[in-house]
Amino acid sequence: MISPAGYKELNALLPGQVKVFEPMARHTTWRIGGPADIFVEPAGVKELARLVSWVHHRGLPLYFIGNGSNLLVKDGGIRGVVVKIGRALGRVQVCETTITAGAGAMLGVLASAAQKNGVGGLEFATGIPGTAGGAVVMNAGANGSSMADLVREVMVMNPSGDLERKKAHELNFGYRTSNLLGGSLVVVEVTCRGISRDPQRIRADMEEYLARRQATQPLSYPSAGSVFKNPPGKSAGWLIEQAGCKGMRQGDAQVSTVHANFIVNLGRATARDVQALIHRVQQLVYKRFGISLALEVQVLGED
Ligand SMILES: Cc1cc2nc3c(=O)[nH]c(=O)nc-3n(C[C@H](O)[C@H](O)[C@H](O)COP(=O)(O)OP(=O)(O)OC[C@H]3O[C@@H](n4cnc5c(N)ncnc54)[C@H](O)[C@@H]3O)c2cc1C
Repeated sequence: MISPAGYKELNALLPGQVKVFEPMARHTTWRIGGPADIFVEPAGVKELARLVSWVHHRGLPLYFIGNGSNLLVKDGGIRGVVVKIGRALGRVQVCETTITAGAGAMLGVLASAAQKNGVGGLEFATGIPGTAGGAVVMNAGANGSSMADLVREVMVMNPSGDLERKKAHELNFGYRTSNLLGGSLVVVEVTCRGISRDPQRIRADMEEYLARRQATQPLSYPSAGSVFKNPPGKSAGWLIEQAGCKGMRQGDAQVSTVHANFIVNLGRATARDVQALIHRVQQLVYKRFGISLALEVQVLGED
């Protein structure tokens, strides 16, 4: 827990950017999560550097989030400092086939900037509600492509507040993972390389992907997208459905009746409800298929 003197110091360092006991439900697409002791949305890279080195020197726990679209924050909230990389770090530039984006830019903004400039490759990202930073860390993907296919390099900040460049091959991308996940580096900027493509054809693909999402995903309820990773060669959604879990409910958390790998918040679901449902789904899938479903969503905080 941060002392009142510490809070005062931090507030003086980053005026207007620091909140105490901020409900994380406001910052996750599941609309679930208890309070963060300290929540900061830095106004720029300089402010971010000041913040991370301040936190580092005091040995406080530090967590980075983007749009919170792959996060389950527990009901007891987060002890330490949560840093949201948001719109202030979200500038997007396209030069020939290179797209450079601040980590806080939404993937949809990147995809549409690329489309307007006739740069193909990011069509798959249409409808993924994450930031560029979160997408790199998670190696977000869909329709057979993922960020790993496009990322050339990232700019990260270390706990001392210094910037470093890392090439794609240094990031160990895998299925919905990279070596940035759970680490101490914060992504500040992402550089992607696409291919030259007719903007009309890019737009047509984007519209098709979006229509498919609208038809197959429960987009009218808060969720975090796919809860479980697909086991090799299998679809988690299919396994969950076959194990009889579709529509299963715990409090206001429900295994979606539209897409069984989504758990939706019907209104007042708590993290405890979601965790109980996750556990029941894992047990039933294991009982039926002998397969242990691994979580894709990242869990933060305490009960
Ligand atoms: C309706 C819906 C559909 C979805 N569809 C897809 C899909 O098709 N494919 C897919 O892959 N995902 C999908 N997702 C999940 C999610 O959108 C992606 O994983 C996205 O990339 C997460 O980005 P974010 O900014 O929200 O990250 P967050 O959820 O905020 O964070 C995710 C992880 O990244 C870390 N992180 C975030 N930003 C940074 C940063 N700047 N520096 C360091 N670490 C950081 C966090 O600490 C956390 O561990 C979907 C989610 C929803 C709600």
